[in-house]
Amino acid sequence: MTLSDIDSRQTLAGWVDSRRDHGGVIFVDLRDRSGIIQVVFSPELSPEAYGTAEQLRSEWVIEVKGQVRRRPPESENPGLPTGFVEVFADEVKVLNSSLTPPFYIEDDVRADEALRLRYRYLDLRRPQMQRNLILRHQVVKYIRDFLDARGFLEIETPILIKSTPEGARDYLVPSRMQKGSFYALPQSPQQLKQLLMVSGVERYFQIARCFRDEDLRADRQPEFTQLDLEMSFVEQEDVLQLTEELYTGMVEKLAPDKKLIQPFPRLPYDEVIAKYGSDKPDLRFGLEMTEVTDLAGETEFRVFLSTIENGGIVKGFVAPGQGHYTGSDMRRLEETAKEFGAAGMSHVRIQGEGQPQGLEEDNFLLSPGLRMPVEWSRRLAEKMGASGGDLIVLMAGPPNRVNLWLSAMREYFGDRLGLADENTLSFAFVTGFPLFEWDENNKRWDSSHHPFTSPADGKEVLLDGENLAGIESKAYDLVCNGSELASGSIRIHRRELQEKIFGVLGYSKEQVEERFGHILEAFEYGAPPHGGIAPGIDRLVTILAGADSIRDVIAFPKTQSGTDLLFGSPSPVDAAQLRDLSLRVTE
Ligand code: ASP
Repeated sequence: MTLSDIDSRQTLAGWVDSRRDHGGVIFVDLRDRSGIIQVVFSPELSPEAYGTAEQLRSEWVIEVKGQVRRRPPESENPGLPTGFVEVFADEVKVLNSSLTPPFYIEDDVRADEALRLRYRYLDLRRPQMQRNLILRHQVVKYIRDFLDARGFLEIETPILIKSTPEGARDYLVPSRMQKGSFYALPQSPQQLKQLLMVSGVERYFQIARCFRDEDLRADRQPEFTQLDLEMSFVEQEDVLQLTEELYTGMVEKLAPDKKLIQPFPRLPYDEVIAKYGSDKPDLRFGLEMTEVTDLAGETEFRVFLSTIENGGIVKGFVAPGQGHYTGSDMRRLEETAKEFGAAGMSHVRIQGEGQPQGLEEDNFLLSPGLRMPVEWSRRLAEKMGASGGDLIVLMAGPPNRVNLWLSAMREYFGDRLGLADENTLSFAFVTGFPLFEWDENNKRWDSSHHPFTSPADGKEVLLDGENLAGIESKAYDLVCNGSELASGSIRIHRRELQEKIFGVLGYSKEQVEERFGHILEAFEYGAPPHGGIAPGIDRLVTILAGADSIRDVIAFPKTQSGTDLLFGSPSPVDAAQLRDLSLRVTE
C-alpha cells in the first residue's frame, strides 16, 4: 500500500506485529512477508471492529477490510515504505489466535540460537530471515536462468545411491527389501554427473543436496546444497570463465553494494601457500609471508636450528606500523599464537616509525632467543620488506604447521588492523592443487580433491615414481575473503588411468570392481573429456546476505551436533521398524 492506493478499499491479512491503545483509537501494525502497515480502529467508524481490536494480541492472525487514507503529517514515517498511509478498518476477522511467542518477532532478537531453532517457524517470521529466504530464492533463480541461457540441462540424480567418496563418512540407509544391504546418501552427485557426460548430456547442472557425516564446524551442516555442474569437451579455463561470469553477474544483480575485483586472479596453489600459508587466503589485504630459513640458520637460536635440522622452515610476515608493541603486548600476542596451535613465535620490533633511518642501529628489538647483530636484523628486514615502525612475526616448524599457524596470525592481524573491507568480495581461483596428499594418521595417500580428478598434462608418468606429493592435478577452487566457495576439476575419462589412481589410493582390485566397476565400465564406452565445478550455495548466500552464520540462510538447519531442535531428530525408532530392517541397536 502506497500513496497511489489512497481512498481505495482493501482487504489485508497478516499477523499482529504490535497493538497500541491510545484510548479512543487503537493502532495495529499488521505484518506479512512484504512488510508492515498501520491499521487504525476507532469506535466511531465501527464499534464492532473496535471491540475486536481491543482483544488482539501479538502474532494473532487477522483479516481487516477498510479504506486506505493518507496519514496526518505529524504521524508520517518516511522510514517505512507504507509510512505515508494507514488503513481505517471497518471490519476485522480473527483468523487465529496465538500463544505469546518465546521471543520477540523482530530483527535484533537477543534470543539464544537454540530457542530460535526450537521455534524455527517463528524465527523465520522475522523480517531479516524472510529477506534471507528471498535472497536465497533469487540466487537459485539467477543460477537457473544463467545456465539455461547457456544450454545447460537441469537433471535430478538419486538420493538413495552408493558411496560416492568426497573424503567424508557416508550416511547409510538400510534396505528393507535386501536385508543387510545399504544405500549411501550422496556426498555429492560426482559420479552421476560424470555418467551423464558419458550419456552425451554435454552440459548438466543441479541444485543438489549433499550429505557428509563429519564432525561439524561452525560453517558446516551435515546436509548442504551445491550448484553441481559438469561440461563435456572443456578445458579448465572454460569452467573457470563460466564460473566467473556467473558470480560476477549474480553479485552485480543481487548484491550491487559489494565491490568486486575483476578479472578473478588465477593463482597457482604453490604460490598462495608460499604467500599466504593457506589455500583459501583472504585477498582483501596483503600481509604476504616470506620464508627466511636461510637467515634463521645463521642464528644460534636452538628452536630455529633444530627445526631446520628436522627439515622444517622458518617463515613470517610483517605487521606494518606495529613495531611499537611493548613487551607485554608481545607476550599477549604469543598467547594468541598459541591459541591458534603455534608452538611459539619469535619477533623483531623495529623502532623509528616513518623515519628514513628506520633500519639504523639501535632500532631493532629482538625476541629473547634471537641474539643477533644489527646487520642480521637489517638483512632480515630488507628480505621481508619491513621498515622503521614495523613488527616482524616469525614462526618455525614443519612447513604445513607453520603455514597453518601463520595464516591464522595473518587473518588475526588483517582483522585487528581493519584491513579486510566488509564490502569487498575478493574472488580468486586457486589452480594446480597437488593430486595427492599424505594422510599421516592412516599412513596412506589420499586424493587432495577426489579420486576422479585428472593429473596435469604430462604428469601421468609420475604415478609410477616415488614423489607422489609432487604430482600436480587439474583441480581448482574458487575462494573469496578467506572461504572456499567452489571446488572442481577436469576429470579422468579413461579406465586405465582411473584404475591406476585407485591403486595408488590403496584399493584392491576387488574393492575397485565392487565400488567403482560401474563408472570404470562406462569409461570404456566412449566417455568424452569432461570437467566441472560445484559452488556451495549456503556459504554464498551467507556472504551476499551479510549474515553471521550459514544457519541464517537455511530454512531448517541443524545444530553443531547435527540435531534438528524443531523435530527432535535424530531420534530412536520403533522396535518394529528395526525388525523390518533386520537391525538391532547394541549400545
Ligand atoms: N563433487 C565435488 C565436490 O563436491 C565438486 C566437483 O568436483 O565438481 O567437492
